[in-house]
Amino acid sequence: MGSLQHDILRRHAMAALGILLFTLLYLFAYLATFDVGRDISPIYLPVILYVAGHALTVFCVSRGWFDHTRDPSLTLPVMVMAILYMSYLLYLAPELQWLVLISYLNIMPFGIFSLAWRGLLGMTLFVLFCYATVLFSLSFKGQGMAPQVEALSLMALLGSLLMSAFVGREFFLLRTAYQRKNVELRRALGRIEELAVTDELTGLNNRRYLLRTLEKHRAMAIRQNIPFVVAFIDIDHFKQTNDRHGHRIGDQVLGELAQLLQSSIREVDLAARYGGEEFILLLSGLRLSTAKRVMERIRESVEVHTFSDMGLRQTVSIGVAAYMPDEEADEVLSRADRMLYVAKHEGRNLVRVDPTETPETTESGASAGGNNA
Ligand code: GH3
Ligand code: MG
Ligand code: MG
Repeated sequence: MGSLQHDILRRHAMAALGILLFTLLYLFAYLATFDVGRDISPIYLPVILYVAGHALTVFCVSRGWFDHTRDPSLTLPVMVMAILYMSYLLYLAPELQWLVLISYLNIMPFGIFSLAWRGLLGMTLFVLFCYATVLFSLSFKGQGMAPQVEALSLMALLGSLLMSAFVGREFFLLRTAYQRKNVELRRALGRIEELAVTDELTGLNNRRYLLRTLEKHRAMAIRQNIPFVVAFIDIDHFKQTNDRHGHRIGDQVLGELAQLLQSSIREVDLAARYGGEEFILLLSGLRLSTAKRVMERIRESVEVHTFSDMGLRQTVSIGVAAYMPDEEADEVLSRADRMLYVAKHEGRNLVRVDPTETPETTESGASAGGNNA
């Protein structure tokens, strides 16, 4: 059960308690203001009907059957039931008018949680209508009050109901404004969270996100034995590209390479900009030999790609390492970085793989050491 539904049911409990108190007071006054032995049987039916009606409403609400309507708490039907209930009890004992009038007013605050201005105004008119109908029926029976008193009590009720409808309206407006602000804040927070993990230039995830994800993969590798591989990618002679064509073109190259990397990996993998012209791929569930093939393919696709409108060629060097159980996340990064250094040293545009790999993560038929190109 959601917290909203919890709140709604709590309000229903409060309303039921209010009605119970009213009924007890009514019964007490009903018996006390008349001779002993007054017949209370006419009260049974309205009480039973009200209890059944409210119980049915609470049942529907707890099942969430009206969650997608404008009144998921069924406040309107409960208010209508309570008003009818009180009006009928007033009809049975007109001398208890003081109690019914007070109780009419107590019903209104429940509406301010879910009814807008029109709903509250409608409720005000409905209460007045019921009250006037009872007064009319009573005078028809010969039990009515003096017309001046009736008119005055109708006016007093109208004034009080309008006041509570106004207060309810203010409350409703405040609540809607608060809800709107809440939605805006949540959206802004989502955007901030996104910005905090995104690299502005390339749109890839940034170093912070990479390190966080690396920790998650590390936990999965330890607990569930899911291997992963880290590939350190560095653009070759990128400084020359910048020097020859300017920083703007350099930025374009970075952006295009980021797209190329992102489109070369699966959903479960991660491409991140580690900094400058360095990128990292995190390949999940792969063994070293497969990862090496993947990275060779990526290296080749960069080699044949023409960057920016100027048709620039650019190559990358790649260092690859598989995560070893129990090592820290930055250790696997360091090993991949060392392999990147080897690739640079051996002439660039190469993939170099750290052969260290646990037996469980070694692909059948491929020896661990045999992956080092
Ligand atoms: P190597 O093959 O040894 O990696 O040579 P390199 O020139 O790529 O390496 P070096 O580390 O000397 O230079 C990296 C260059 O990357 C220097 C810097 O101008 C460029 N760079 C780093 N970040 C950015 C960026 O955000 N935009 C652009 N346009 N260039 C960047
Ligand atoms: Mg570099
Ligand atoms: Mg470089």
